[in-house]
Amino acid sequence: MIVDVLVVGAGLAGLHTATLLARQGHDVLLAERRPTPTGAIRTTGIFVRRTLDDFALPPASLGPPIRRVVLYPPGLRRPVALVSTRDEYRVADMASLYTAAARAAADAGVQMAWGTRYAGRRGDSFLLDGRDGPVTVRARFVVGADGARSRVARDLGLGRNHHLLVGAEEVFTIPAGHEPPTFHCVLDPSLAPGYLAWVVNDGRHAHVGVAGYADRFPDGLRRALERFAATAPGLPTGDREPDAVERRGGPIPVGGVLRRISCPDGLLVGDAAGAVSPLTAGGLDPCLRLSALAAGTLHEALRTGRPDALTRYDGAALRARFRGRLMLRRGLAQVRTPTLAAAAFTLLRTPLGRAAASRILFGDGSFPGPGPGPGPGPGSGPDGW
Ligand SMILES: Cc1cc2nc3c(=O)[nH]c(=O)nc-3n(C[C@H](O)[C@H](O)[C@H](O)COP(=O)(O)OP(=O)(O)OC[C@H]3O[C@@H](n4cnc5c(N)ncnc54)[C@H](O)[C@@H]3O)c2cc1C
Repeated sequence: MIVDVLVVGAGLAGLHTATLLARQGHDVLLAERRPTPTGAIRTTGIFVRRTLDDFALPPASLGPPIRRVVLYPPGLRRPVALVSTRDEYRVADMASLYTAAARAAADAGVQMAWGTRYAGRRGDSFLLDGRDGPVTVRARFVVGADGARSRVARDLGLGRNHHLLVGAEEVFTIPAGHEPPTFHCVLDPSLAPGYLAWVVNDGRHAHVGVAGYADRFPDGLRRALERFAATAPGLPTGDREPDAVERRGGPIPVGGVLRRISCPDGLLVGDAAGAVSPLTAGGLDPCLRLSALAAGTLHEALRTGRPDALTRYDGAALRARFRGRLMLRRGLAQVRTPTLAAAAFTLLRTPLGRAAASRILFGDGSFPGPGPGPGPGPGSGPDGW
C-alpha cells in the first residue's frame, strides 16, 4: 500500500492532523491499535476557554461551563475559592468527541485502520499489524501521534519523553444541582506527589483523579486514588461511594515540547512531541494547535517536494517559549511534604497569591503556537466537527 502520509495513533492529535491533511487533498492512512474510537479513553477531557474559542468542538459533546475553582491544602481546611467572570472550562464527553472527530476524518477522506498496531519501520516502509494480519505501507511521511511513549519517535530517531507524570481517575454520574459546576484541586504531595488531586464536577459527572511522579506515590497510584476518592471534596454527601462509570489514566509528559520533533521522513504531534503544559499538564489545547502546525508543514512539504520542508517544524524554537512554565513545574515538583504545601497556601491566600493563581487558571495564555491553523479545520471550515 502506498500513501502520502501514514498517521499513527487516533487520539485527538492524530485525528486532527489526518483530517486537516486529507482536506488538503492528500492521501492519508490513520492506523490506531484500539478497535474503536471510544475504548480506553485516557483523559479527563477538560477543555480551556482558549480552545473553546478557537476550535469548533461539537457542542453536544461538551458539558456545562465551569467558572469556579477551589484550591485545597492538605487536610482540606481553609480552601481558596476563585470565581471567574467568564466560562473557563468545559468537560467533554470524550467518547462522543472522538466519535465525531473520527467521523470528520473519514468524511475528509482519511483511510481509517482501527485495530491496527504500528509495529516498526523497515527502510522506507512501515509495518502495520491489523485485523487481517501484517501489512507493509510505503508513505512519503509518517506522523507519530502515538502518545507519550511513542514508538514512531524511537524509529525516526526523534526526541523521547523522559519527564512523565502518571494520572488516574474515576468518573461518576452525580445528581444534578448538587453544587455549581466546580473544579476542585487539592495540593497534597502525600496524595499526588508533584501535581494535584482533583474533582471536576460539572453538574452531570464528577471526575475524581490524582496524578504525580510514579516513583513518589507512597503506596502506588491506585491506592492514592482510593484514598482520595474516600474523602474528596465536591462529591454529594451521603453518597461517598457512587458507582464508577469509567476508569481512565495514563502517562502525562511534562518536560515540555521535545527539541527534535521532525526529520526528513516525518514528525511528531501531541503527547508524542511532548506538547503538554509542563505546569497544568493540559495537553488537549496544545495537541490541537501543534497538529495544525504539523498539517500545514506537511502540506507545504508535499506540495513543494522540498527535502528541507520539515525543518521549520522546530521543537527547540517552540520549547524556548515554555521556559516560564518549565520553571514553575520544577517548583511544583519540589513541594514534597504536606507542610510545604500548607506553607504555599499561606502565600496563596494573599491578594498577590490569588492574582497569580487566577492568572494561571483563568489566563489567556495557551500553547505557544498557531490557532486553528492553515486550511479548513475545526473552527475554520464549513463542517467543523
Ligand atoms: C488521567 C489524565 C487526565 C488528563 N486530563 C486532561 C484534561 O482534562 N485536559 C487536558 O488538556 N489534558 C489532559 N490530559 C492530557 C491529554 O489527555 C493528552 O495530552 C492528550 O489527550 C494527548 O492526545 P494525543 O492524541 O497526543 O495522545 P493519545 O490520546 O494518547 O493518543 C495516542 C493514540 O495512539 C495510539 N497508539 C499508541 N501506540 C500505537 C501503535 N503502536 N500503533 C497504533 N496506535 C498506537 C493509542 O492507542 C492512542 O489512541 C490528561 C492526561 C491523563 C493521563
